[in-house]
Amino acid sequence: MARFSPLEWPVIRQLRTGDRFGRGPAVESPRSKALESRLATADRMVQSVCPFCAVGCGQQVYVKDERVIAIEGDPDSPISRGRLCPKGASSEQLVNNPSRQTTVRYRAPYATDWQDLDRDTAIDMIADRFVQARRDHWRETDAHGRPLRHTLGIASLGGATLDNEENYLIKKLFTAAGAIAIENQARI
Ligand code: SF4
Repeated sequence: MARFSPLEWPVIRQLRTGDRFGRGPAVESPRSKALESRLATADRMVQSVCPFCAVGCGQQVYVKDERVIAIEGDPDSPISRGRLCPKGASSEQLVNNPSRQTTVRYRAPYATDWQDLDRDTAIDMIADRFVQARRDHWRETDAHGRPLRHTLGIASLGGATLDNEENYLIKKLFTAAGAIAIENQARI
């Protein structure tokens, strides 16, 4: 065990290090001194936006070896000014979660199992169903001949992760297609 030096007495250490109130280096243990912030080990920081809800808080995403290692609030964001709610602060777990789905999953009618689809096939299938449902349920007029020109065959229900720009485009698309049932968390 190393000999204790009088220079290491707390009050002397406080005077010696200029930490008069004992709130800084004078009271750091050797273990604390050796610790390094995980952010300091990152290769780079990328500014981004929290994907969880329509508030759109700014995030600083820290990357090491092309992997996200930490996500912090971005003080440059005029919306959140460095803050994140608990959900936003835990979004690193969303990125690196081993259960995260990274492919399009499809369960065919009456099938009991899911299968992977490539994205182009999935988008084509959605577009075909969209057009067909619109066509099948188009209402030109009501029972009295008054113009309706809408469809109840398609609807949009948006979740919290859609941002304003996405909601704006979805609203334009569905309204142009004649849908009247359009809803999302961040209403526009
Ligand atoms: S989930 Fe929280 S941190 Fe993320 S955008 Fe919404 S309020 Fe901000």
